[in-house]
Amino acid sequence: MISVEEALDRILSRVDVLGDERVSLHDALHRVLAQDVDSPLDMPPWPASSMDGYALRSGDTSGAGAAAPARLTVAGRVPAGGMAERPIRPGEAFRIFTGAPLPEDADAIIPQEDVQVDGPALLVPRPVGKGDFVRPRGEDMRRGDRVLERGRVLSAADIGLLATVGASPVSVIRRPRVGILSTGDELVDLGGRIGPGQIPNSNSYSLIAQVIEAGAVPVSLGIAGDRLEDIEARFRWGLGCDVLISSAGVSVGEHDFVKDALARLGAEQHLWLVDMRPGKPIAFSTIPQDGKGAVAAFALPGNPVSAMVTFELFVRPAIRRMAGHARLHRPIVTARAQEPIRNGDTRRGYLRVTLTPTDDGYRARLTGSQSSGVLRSMVAADGLAIVPGTTTIAPDQPLKVLLLRPL
Ligand code: AMP
Ligand code: MG
Repeated sequence: MISVEEALDRILSRVDVLGDERVSLHDALHRVLAQDVDSPLDMPPWPASSMDGYALRSGDTSGAGAAAPARLTVAGRVPAGGMAERPIRPGEAFRIFTGAPLPEDADAIIPQEDVQVDGPALLVPRPVGKGDFVRPRGEDMRRGDRVLERGRVLSAADIGLLATVGASPVSVIRRPRVGILSTGDELVDLGGRIGPGQIPNSNSYSLIAQVIEAGAVPVSLGIAGDRLEDIEARFRWGLGCDVLISSAGVSVGEHDFVKDALARLGAEQHLWLVDMRPGKPIAFSTIPQDGKGAVAAFALPGNPVSAMVTFELFVRPAIRRMAGHARLHRPIVTARAQEPIRNGDTRRGYLRVTLTPTDDGYRARLTGSQSSGVLRSMVAADGLAIVPGTTTIAPDQPLKVLLLRPL
């Protein structure tokens, strides 16, 4: 039996970042940028007005006051999308709107609510500072600036920036395709009638959701009965994927054929038992493929909580690495126990807890039964408390919690 850290090492050392693809900006959110992006332009491209008002030469207003306003002649008009027809002359103002280019020889804007209009004349009741309400050329970016770097996870603002520099389609790392197989004679899929001895298939659906949450593309391989040929055939369908995940049938029971099926596909197994609870039996192997990278195969345990927790700990980081992310792991926070948190097992525990915010950080409390069959303990959980084997965390003592969702 190996530690969680050793297991992760063995997994991550065998998965690589996938190649890139070009996507439209509509599809680029949360994807990992596969290229550096340089700006081909200044933004704004010229000094621009940041207000609806009047463009003028600030020097013309230097002596102005409420009693003796500067009197300028309104001699032009620049709407957004237009250009001034000629440079502004001494004693003149041009009507201007937000986003319009400053006329040549103007150096400031006065907002419309600060002036009075008297026929063709504009009364300016105060001195206007040079540069007031003007966005300088290149305030946002200059031509040649490196505006985004390869490896960045694209945010909404990044997408806007890419549109500004005309980088669409944009090159991003391909999302891993992940085949998901449930195994077990007792399983009935959605829409089927549950007969004696049978239960609904839930793992396929929680795993599909976790795959999506990790930023990958799920491919359902359905349910295989507890038969070697059936499991092998469905895995074979999935060999076009980058990753295969199965749940159940991975122990040493008489009906556990997952590892044998993988062996028939030429899989090389890199780990099996991991020192953790829930979830001890988890097999990771790679299946070499002609002409493309090996398929990474994770045989997860069948209990609904064990399948989800082992996905979080082992599959998610591998998927994130393939998708080009630098941050592979869920955040870990320190919380304090609200009541005793006991791990009676000798293996390291990943216990489901809810977190409550207080003035001095989070309080953690067990969600109730920690049986790996109780899916509702995952439903209630904000995170997984990481507790060493045979250890009880006393009330008020700190503990580490791996966050499963944003708090
Ligand atoms: P196994 O690893 O095959 O011994 O399965 C462990 C437990 O998980 C058994 O109680 C199974 O019935 C249950 N189980 C296996 N697969 C699923 C699934 N897809 N959905 C819900 N429960 C499952
Ligand atoms: Mg089974």
